[in-house]
Amino acid sequence: MKIKRLEIKGFKSFPDKTVVEFKPGITAVVGPNGCGKSNVLEAIRWAMGEQRARTLRGKKMEDVIFNGSDSRKAVGMAEVQLVLSNTDGLSPASMADYDEIMIARRLFRDGDSQYEINGIPCRLSDVVDFFLDTGVGKNSYAIIEQGRVDMIVASKPEDRRVLIEEAAGINRYKSRKEAAIKK
Ligand code: ATP
Ligand code: MG
Repeated sequence: MKIKRLEIKGFKSFPDKTVVEFKPGITAVVGPNGCGKSNVLEAIRWAMGEQRARTLRGKKMEDVIFNGSDSRKAVGMAEVQLVLSNTDGLSPASMADYDEIMIARRLFRDGDSQYEINGIPCRLSDVVDFFLDTGVGKNSYAIIEQGRVDMIVASKPEDRRVLIEEAAGINRYKSRKEAAIKK
């Protein structure tokens, strides 16, 4: 599963619609300090279902909504859309017929949240479940930020096991088992 395209609007330092195309090969985001490079990665992580505001360097989730600058008023909604290629059979079986999958997340200032998969409204848990075992999800090894390599090397075996289980593709079954036991 690869990210083909990212659309950001109203998220952090991007008040206007901003599109990033990920062509085959390596994509590098370069620019001066504070121009929004890390915000691009955080937009991806957010669309994948990140629920911890702190992971996105905020205090509360509302902090992801563009809150104004010297020349621009704050906006009322943050929106991120991710288009993924789906030709490697990693997505859940119910999605197998689609070559491309679009995931969208919106957050409004009044706290209302919306999630969509291929334009159909869904729950946060559907988005999280979609990414389990694809290697691309919010907790996966697909996003390795500064300091994370050290953290992985120094982590306890139980914590490191989570990454290995993601790579092995058993997280989806584990999370279903936990949900079933809770019921
Ligand atoms: P560095 O090279 O230092 O790592 P960077 O390119 O990664 O910088 P980011 O950390 O992505 O930069 O962007 C920081 C900028 O985003 C800051 O100017 C900050 O004010 C702005 N920013 C963050 N959240 C918001 C928000 N909700 N509304 C408006 N601007 C925001
Ligand atoms: Mg940065």
